[in-house]
Amino acid sequence: SIPLGYFAGIGKLSKKGVLVKGGNYLETLKNLDTIIFDKTGTLTEGVFEVTEVKAYNGINNNELLKIAAYAESHSNHPIATSIKEYYNDNIDEKLIQEYQEIVGKGVRAKINGETVLVGNMDFMLENGVDIPTIEPNGTIVYVGINNIFAGYIKISDKIRPQTKDTINKLKELGIKKTVLLTGDNEETAKRVALELGVDEYYANLLPEDKVTLLERYLSDKPSVAFVGDGINDAPVLARSDVGIAMGGLGSDAAIEAADVVIMEDDISRIIDAINVSRKTINIIW
Ligand code: ADP
Ligand code: MG
Repeated sequence: SIPLGYFAGIGKLSKKGVLVKGGNYLETLKNLDTIIFDKTGTLTEGVFEVTEVKAYNGINNNELLKIAAYAESHSNHPIATSIKEYYNDNIDEKLIQEYQEIVGKGVRAKINGETVLVGNMDFMLENGVDIPTIEPNGTIVYVGINNIFAGYIKISDKIRPQTKDTINKLKELGIKKTVLLTGDNEETAKRVALELGVDEYYANLLPEDKVTLLERYLSDKPSVAFVGDGINDAPVLARSDVGIAMGGLGSDAAIEAADVVIMEDDISRIIDAINVSRKTINIIW
């Protein structure tokens, strides 16, 4: 038997742009006590703006930007999009000889015969690229050319306008704990967590680390939601009691892996989802 109220609840939420893939998830939403958020594209817009380009070791800033845009040209990561937009010029595909994306780290490409790495600090260190210390006000994307540090691109992401209010309302609704997980650096994670009043945060995570961390919060009661934009988040969406994906920016894999999809990337819809789940009457037929 299917509780009839579930149909009404799912229907009501679908009108608000929240797709719930089964009545059992309304039950899980009702019993939620922990919500774990991905940062980029979920709490933040995921639309980065380049704020600084700084070249080192013999190339100029324009050359650095160009080579980074070429290396990123096949990536759909929000960081890649921002670099391509800032570059704002044509990409000559013939110059891209190899391309590989390393999830949660960056990209490796062969551009006009040179091996180009664009990504985070770990990615550079793993590849033997010596990097200087840079003040981390924002996300720093490092560039290595033939394993020599060639410069960095600083980008900043904005917190979504509805995020702070949503976190406050979740607390009012009795959600006990909010957690932020991110592949981004410690300083950015801390700043976002403090600004939003998120209870706990973890930085420098790979997608598999996010799964390990989420597992620490799981208990016998179904009570842990993970909310992600989907880029690299499919495993952790699948592992949570209820995986919620932002459908606008999200990847197809994430929308597939999610139990609930928020169609227009409005994070405040989580409040609607919880409210409707609580009001859903279990009419058994
Ligand atoms: P988040 O957890 O914030 O959503 P991701 O797991 O997607 O982040 O990526 C983690 C980190 O890896 C990013 O903050 C960035 O430093 C680096 N990174 C991932 N993909 C790329 C890319 N295409 N270009 C540059 N850096 C990248
Ligand atoms: Mg992400």
